[in-house]
Amino acid sequence: MFNALMPLARPPTAKVNATSSDESRAGVTSRPPALKAIALKCAPFRTAGQLVLPRQCAGCGLWDTDLCPQCQQLLSRSATLLNSDLLPATDLAIWSQGTYAGALRQIVLSFKSGRHRAITGAVLAGINDGAATMVPWLACQLAKDKPLAIINAPSKLSRRWHANLVARQLAQGLTDYLAPQLDIAVVSADPLRLRSGKQLGKNSRQRAQRQVKCLADATGWQVVLVDDVVTTGATLEASAKAIEAAGGVVVCAWTLAAAPTKKRTARP
Ligand SMILES: [Zn+2]
Repeated sequence: MFNALMPLARPPTAKVNATSSDESRAGVTSRPPALKAIALKCAPFRTAGQLVLPRQCAGCGLWDTDLCPQCQQLLSRSATLLNSDLLPATDLAIWSQGTYAGALRQIVLSFKSGRHRAITGAVLAGINDGAATMVPWLACQLAKDKPLAIINAPSKLSRRWHANLVARQLAQGLTDYLAPQLDIAVVSADPLRLRSGKQLGKNSRQRAQRQVKCLADATGWQVVLVDDVVTTGATLEASAKAIEAAGGVVVCAWTLAAAPTKKRTARP
């Protein structure tokens, strides 16, 4: 059962701050390179490319940098446990490192689009600072005799086709951070898939829950779910239901950002 996950996991010692070239070697970025990417990759043309297509901060648009110090700080904010009363679609405990608005929203959009590969390392490195607040809480929730699987929410087929697996990268980054912090085995896995075809259900929550399936036997797993942005929690809830149907126990979820609601606040 547990071994079924292992081929999907990278060693916990893998570096968190993967560079864009690391990603290319890992096959993460197989999308055809854009003109700007070609110009910036080829050393002889780098200067000319930057003159023609100058760099801008992914968050605030400041010139001549991929990510300015102020925007980098947004990625390193301490994760907080969201108020479950304001997540109508789920009862899961969900941690988030920031609010999906302003510069952080722009950074996340750039990260998801794959246009700004240079910020991937900064996004993953931000987990090291931000997730620290979650560790003591998580350690209290976990059974000591079961492994922990960090599982990303399912990606759309188009994202999987282009190998632009944002939640997968975040899950690997969180795994690399948590593995040395906890006294149990921590692995990263990607067993969740979206079902194809039209899904029937009485309401959007029921339909969402039927759209996710778990490809592996999850008996004996403790699971932390990972996604880039949480809005109502419906996707995370559907993912949790799929894992529970496969025999696993979902402890909590972690997200890079939470979409703002009128009343959403962090728990004390
Ligand atoms: Zn900036």
